[in-house]
Amino acid sequence: MRVAFFSAKSYDRKFFTERLKQFRHELIFLEPHLSQDTCKLAFGFEVVCVFVHDRLDREVLKRVAEHGTRLVALRCAGFNNVDLNAAKDFNLTVVRVPAYSPYGVAEHAVALILALNRKIYRAYNRVRDGNFSLDGLLGFEIYGKTVGILGTGKIGRAMVSIMKGFGCRVLVYDLVQNPDCAALGADYVEKETLFEQSDIISLHLPLAKETHYLIDEKALARMKDQVMLINTSRGGLIDSRCLIEGLKNGKIGYLGLDVYEEEESLFFEDKTGEVIQDDIFARLLTFPNVLITGHQAFFTNVALENIAHTTLANISAFEENRLSPMDLVKVEESAR
Ligand code: NAD
Repeated sequence: MRVAFFSAKSYDRKFFTERLKQFRHELIFLEPHLSQDTCKLAFGFEVVCVFVHDRLDREVLKRVAEHGTRLVALRCAGFNNVDLNAAKDFNLTVVRVPAYSPYGVAEHAVALILALNRKIYRAYNRVRDGNFSLDGLLGFEIYGKTVGILGTGKIGRAMVSIMKGFGCRVLVYDLVQNPDCAALGADYVEKETLFEQSDIISLHLPLAKETHYLIDEKALARMKDQVMLINTSRGGLIDSRCLIEGLKNGKIGYLGLDVYEEEESLFFEDKTGEVIQDDIFARLLTFPNVLITGHQAFFTNVALENIAHTTLANISAFEENRLSPMDLVKVEESAR
């Protein structure tokens, strides 16, 4: 099939071109994000292949469907950027890569925890400057601490298993209990209990109406002073405005973000030398106890291989009418 491949990066070209040898599709790599301004580029393509910052709103979906698109192939797990009701209305099939490397994402969350706790990012610069003072680098032992994990799907489960390995007490919250997590020794609790008792809180829920701003001023107020908050899921789970006050008054002792609610205009691009226009993001960068990475938790060789393989296999399955209902991203999922 002919595929308009939006938001293409050098690593996408490398992994998809390598994998393409096993498939018969034609991929046209396009650097822009898919949006109302760029959707013309997709006209005439049966498939659009997109990533997390492509915007598939009703207007975009309507226009591409009118010009021959039948399949939206997401090369990511999250699908909060697609209007699934509109996709249904315009008879567009939507597929995604539900699991490409849950351990990779969980390991990145743990990397943020360890780096924040032992201030590795500060120690690295200090030692290179010839400053071997330990002042300001005091950490705590993760062993024995209470870790709260919101969302016990594929990534949350991996997170439970790693944090159990550290000797932590693990509290979990999800609408649906995952028996693996209970078997690993995690305790399902109400989210309020998790907020109140956890020393470290890590988010692994999808972004949907129900989870938007799950962490707001009220949720923060319930948390322990000096809590460590980690978000490798989606920026919109946290109301970023309350983070600044939380950091200033010591409610948040450590903040590790791989995602940010307004990341679209920043992440995945080299902005060296540019003035950051987002005042909240710029302020967050000034705190010594904040560590931000630019949506790189997924970024491992295993994940990129799996993303390329599953995306191309999804397109083949659609072409050959072999997609099972389990493979489709359905409207009901966005309503969870
Ligand atoms: P998953 O679907 O396996 O698990 C999500 C869990 O959240 C499920 O157990 C589900 O029951 C639960 N859930 C959904 N809505 C809920 C609600 N309203 N209240 C409580 N629980 C709810 O997903 P996953 O593979 O573990 O991924 C989780 C998220 O991580 C993705 O949605 C994506 O946004 C994010 N992600 C980020 C990166 C990155 O690079 N930073 C990479 C992959 C995924």
